[in-house]
Amino acid sequence: MTYTGIPASPGIAVGPIHVIARGFSAPEIYEISEEDVVDERARFDEAVAGTKKQLNDLQERLESLSGNADSEIFEAHVMLLEDNNLLSKVSEAIASRLQNAEYAFYAVMQNFLEAMRRIPDPYLRERTADIEDVCQRVLRNFKVDLDFDYETPDDTHILLAYDLSPSDTASMNRRHLLGFATEQGSINSHTSILARSFGIPAVVGLGASVIQVTALTPAVIDGYAGKLVLNPTPETLAGYAALASEKEKQRTELDAMRDEATETLDGHKVTLSANIEFLEELHEVKRSGAKGVGLYRTEFLLLNGSEMPDEAEQTAAYTKVAKEVAPDLIIVRTLDAGGDKLPVEPLTEPEPNPFLGWRGIRVSLSRPAMFRDQLRAVLRASHHGKIAVMFPLVSGLSELLAAREALKRCMDELDAEGVPFDPKLPVGVMIEVPSAAICADILAPHVDFFSIGTNDLIQYTVAVDRVNPHVAKLYRPTHPAVIRLIGKTVEAGSEHGIWTGVCGEMAGDIRLTPLLIGLGVEELSVSPKIVPKVGQVIRSLDFAQCKATAKEALRMSGSAAIMDLTLAVARERYPDLLD
Ligand code: PEP
Ligand code: MG
Repeated sequence: MTYTGIPASPGIAVGPIHVIARGFSAPEIYEISEEDVVDERARFDEAVAGTKKQLNDLQERLESLSGNADSEIFEAHVMLLEDNNLLSKVSEAIASRLQNAEYAFYAVMQNFLEAMRRIPDPYLRERTADIEDVCQRVLRNFKVDLDFDYETPDDTHILLAYDLSPSDTASMNRRHLLGFATEQGSINSHTSILARSFGIPAVVGLGASVIQVTALTPAVIDGYAGKLVLNPTPETLAGYAALASEKEKQRTELDAMRDEATETLDGHKVTLSANIEFLEELHEVKRSGAKGVGLYRTEFLLLNGSEMPDEAEQTAAYTKVAKEVAPDLIIVRTLDAGGDKLPVEPLTEPEPNPFLGWRGIRVSLSRPAMFRDQLRAVLRASHHGKIAVMFPLVSGLSELLAAREALKRCMDELDAEGVPFDPKLPVGVMIEVPSAAICADILAPHVDFFSIGTNDLIQYTVAVDRVNPHVAKLYRPTHPAVIRLIGKTVEAGSEHGIWTGVCGEMAGDIRLTPLLIGLGVEELSVSPKIVPKVGQVIRSLDFAQCKATAKEALRMSGSAAIMDLTLAVARERYPDLLD
């Protein structure tokens, strides 16, 4: 059985399946008043109806893909949600115990599961996984944030999950983890970005229900083609072994060239730097031959708690990066919490559209004390290496000026305290909101560089949520609007004498390198793992040809045609490096 999803992180993993559908913690419990009973019951009905609809949709999809046999799984799930005995038990519990609907449902289901687990029949015992699955789906429809409860097996394994949040992925014990596959997810979610940083082969957005796969089923994750293969035949395994060794050979060859200059055949220099989320990635940055860190995503410091570490701890972290990467530059991006990433503090009301909400610089500007800690830490660390700072999700000049002012205040304070820092610390702005790209000429006089965050720039330009698999097909890096915005940004930057880089995932997509370089992008910041490959890509290109390609692309009307155009150059110049 082969499932195809989105190739989220390259590599081949072979091993037994471990499913983490099970073992989730209880939702929050609170007391309700008698008048609330009707409303709570209505919430329960709504969550059940929503789940049934999702299951029906899944069933229809599966039927159209692979016939009736598999879709019976969902029929059983739907039947469970139509079990009057169970439904009325929840209704009763809400009224008699005066508990919130999600908790009442959870408690009833736990009792039911307990009873099931005691049944000696192994077939029925197996069905508990289905019930747990339904239970989780209903809880998700209540918008309960299910805690990740991932007990690491002691043996190596491939993880299957409904979905993984970036914090799940970041906090997993990776010692025994060979790879993972999820039903949900998309290529530019932070979960996928982390998988690539960690070098864990991953497939996301399978769209099919895989969390009922029996534990220990032998499987292969093909992170190049986005496949999950269950019970692979010996021939399939041999094929993957050959592919893995071919990729390994290529990697060794590329590693050997990592110190060569990153300039095109006709002598045009491009800075190639690395994106990092964690200090542990620093050794990989050095190993890769990257020229510094082009994006340090500091929001991952939130992983150890729900608050940013204090000024001293942050100073220590940034100093460590700066010292290790010296004499090259590190660009510290100020906190970019929110969206699909870790929240900086729990909001009283969940946001209906988190990507359009409280994230990036908006959070920092509304939490001056927290912002001050971070800026002071960056400044203090700048005394020990070469550091720049940049601000995420800036949508216009006023936010940029407010951020700059906050930085200036911190500089004045440190001056008064006699604390040394780099007074010429370069300041950049991320261009990742279309309004910022369109107004790049207005922003340029106030910064030392632009770094284009294409992951967000694409999602906001074409109005496609970067983590929503339902609209993933519309997420097109080569959309003419995206290409034009990148071109416009570079142009505004060069008119004002500042450089423009790209630190979004487009920078590491080697099909697009001819186009980006041709558009005049001077720096590419990519996952450390692929630095050697992108370096070789740059060395294989001809700048004059890239410029001609970009010029033509800017006149084209369709994303597919633009992709074909840049891909043709990539195929001509480095066919062996394309996956
Ligand atoms: C981007 O949006 O392209 C970017 C680099 O930032 P992040 O992926 O962290 O939002
Ligand atoms: Mg971004």
